[in-house]
Amino acid sequence: MTSPQHIVNVSGGKDSAACYLLALQSGRPFRAVMSDTGNEHPDTIAYAMSLGDRTGGPQVEIYRADFTERLARKALYVAQHWPADGVPQELIDRAVAALKPTGIPFLDLCLWKGRFPSRKAQFCTEFLKSEVIGSQVVEPARRTGPVVQWLGVRRAESLARRHSPMWQTVRTAGLHTMRFYRPLIHWTAQNVFGFAAAFGVDPNPLYLQGMGRVGCFPCINAAKDEIRAISLRFPEAIDRIEEWEAICTATSKRGVGTFFAADVTPEGAALGRMIKAIPDPEERRRASAAAPWPNARTVAEWARTDRGGKQFNWLMDTEDDGLSCSSQYGLCE
Ligand code: SF4
Repeated sequence: MTSPQHIVNVSGGKDSAACYLLALQSGRPFRAVMSDTGNEHPDTIAYAMSLGDRTGGPQVEIYRADFTERLARKALYVAQHWPADGVPQELIDRAVAALKPTGIPFLDLCLWKGRFPSRKAQFCTEFLKSEVIGSQVVEPARRTGPVVQWLGVRRAESLARRHSPMWQTVRTAGLHTMRFYRPLIHWTAQNVFGFAAAFGVDPNPLYLQGMGRVGCFPCINAAKDEIRAISLRFPEAIDRIEEWEAICTATSKRGVGTFFAADVTPEGAALGRMIKAIPDPEERRRASAAAPWPNARTVAEWARTDRGGKQFNWLMDTEDDGLSCSSQYGLCE
């Protein structure tokens, strides 16, 4: 029987680093892979890439999504179909001009989709991580033999992952079997930090700078305190998101492109309720396009205040703040 190929998914966070160290401790040969979304802090990529040198283990292979073809197809679609939808020619020209690859996977994905991802439409994990690692690493490996994918998922980290199994088998016609392996499933955050410390491996430095999770910087699901920490310590990250919002708005049919969910601030939530109550669809669309939805700058300013905001739920016995990634595959921390 062919031995399985072990592939460890790395995100630059504490859990995937512990997963990498466990794989190393097991003595099995393995590959470590990471998808660079173009929205990580440079320290996160650097941390992931340093794991090999720090431990003597394999170098983390970095992959990226490429949206060149999808953007070209979208530009063609916009030019051909938006006129029939009554979209003004000026907006169509603006969208077609903006639908050019920037080489930043996160931004290119949003240009292609004409919007930023949200908690309800969290397509970022799928297109920036699962699809990239799936098509560029796992599928080619499964053509040659069975694969075990190691995932740094812990049940305690989120309600959505509370029932995640340690092992999960995936069978696909024409490919060898793949098994997901979640070796940290019963671990706590303290176990993870302690395990890495025993190896002499420091955590990603961003944890020491107020970040509860390190993945995208910021993540669309970032909690108020994370947004505040980012805006105070790394204002350039908010500047970048503000620039992306301007570019993305140009490709939005609704003329709206905000990074964070509108209802993250109390004012945005009230605005959303008001617009939702407008009965006429066309009037509602116009009101939405003209509405002052909270952009990244507004959200960052709100995050520095004591007004509103989602809080940690101390009643739950998980580390979940209700905002963490719901993916079962642990590709986002
Ligand atoms: S870290 Fe957040 S923004 Fe980035 S891919 Fe995951 S869910 Fe999306």
